[in-house]
Amino acid sequence: MSISKKDPKIAKLISAEEKYENETIDLIPSENYASLEVREALGSILSNKYSEGYPGARYYAGEIYVDQIEEIAKDRALKMFKLSPTKWHANVQPYSGSPANLAVYSSVLEPGDKIMGMKLDQGGHITHGLPISFPGRIFDFAFYGVDEKTEMLDYDEILKIAKKEKPKLIICGATAYSRTIDFKKFAEIAQKVNAYLLADISHIAGLVIGGAHPSPFPYADFVMSTTHKTLRGPRGALIICKKEFQKQIDRAVFPGLQGGPHDNQVAAKAVCFGEALDPDFKIYAKQIVKNAKALARELQGHGFKIVSNGTDNHLMLVDLRTLQITGKDAQLMLEEIGIICNKNTIPLDPEKPFIGSGIRIGTPALTTRGMKEKEMTIVAKLIAATLMKKEAKNKLEKEVVKLAKKFPLE
Ligand SMILES: *Cc1c(COP(=O)(O)O)cnc(C)c1O
Repeated sequence: MSISKKDPKIAKLISAEEKYENETIDLIPSENYASLEVREALGSILSNKYSEGYPGARYYAGEIYVDQIEEIAKDRALKMFKLSPTKWHANVQPYSGSPANLAVYSSVLEPGDKIMGMKLDQGGHITHGLPISFPGRIFDFAFYGVDEKTEMLDYDEILKIAKKEKPKLIICGATAYSRTIDFKKFAEIAQKVNAYLLADISHIAGLVIGGAHPSPFPYADFVMSTTHKTLRGPRGALIICKKEFQKQIDRAVFPGLQGGPHDNQVAAKAVCFGEALDPDFKIYAKQIVKNAKALARELQGHGFKIVSNGTDNHLMLVDLRTLQITGKDAQLMLEEIGIICNKNTIPLDPEKPFIGSGIRIGTPALTTRGMKEKEMTIVAKLIAATLMKKEAKNKLEKEVVKLAKKFPLE
């Protein structure tokens, strides 16, 4: 690495992180390993540019190549979801998922307007109405949750709440929900109460593109996704909206919330979208789900309780109450042997979010490394042995390193 001479301190830490990522098992469902090509674009000279505005209408000179790159990214974004540019518009400038959601809210709403989203302790994202967040302070949020018994979305109940609350915008999509989201039903609910529909597919975009989860198109008015989760690109986001909202969305992103787009990131998004258009991406997306189902089944076989009794997508929530350990404890115990996951609340959790009664685990990263169902059996066994204290820590740690090293990173 060329920075090792100029800045050995940072270079060392980056190398250490590289080794760490190679030797650990990453089960964080929002993480993934971006390709070398995506990272090449990110680290390219495009990082030098400033290009406020949009292709053909910039506020600076010197944008010949940047314009072409952004057009390609927009074009590929629509192609990934099989959308016609006569009906849909893509904005590829959002820095990340959080500002992109705020851009959607601010495009068609006024401060004080009501937004309905999923309860945060049942799977919703902090941008869907955390009271102390800025969106939480300027908009009036109402919430729906999951059914107590099935731990799944109950669309009749959501309609009831929507009729009572009369939101101007409904958000469907989550950060910790393991079941299929019925976008058509959400659109029917939104239509009945005359609300806009935003599908936040940050987590499942890769699955949608790969045909492993139903598409939010043509049902949602706005679709927002991060580009770094199952989509496996650079950190960032994109918004796709019905053509009629093009002006409002573009204005909400720039100059509404952002200044110059990160052109290196836009180029990396274009590379990532190109990868997602490759037929191999479908195989990847389907394998993510197969792996998640296998992992859930294996964990159940070891006696774990999985929220909603399984998964349809890339993640699952493990309810640890029967084991008498908290999510926080479990996260730490697993980290000690090199399995990285995060504590999470489960529906109607008696614990506070910082403790949590569950852990959230997902398979996008391991699937990128080439792991399949067979390896999920090993991962489940390692988790069970750790949390049920069946084997010595140092022995388990060695097994984790051995498994991880069999599937090296790019
Ligand atoms: C990750 C996520 C976001 C926000 O993404 P950041 O890039 O971390 O700001 C928004 N919505 C959902 C549902 C997410 O999972």
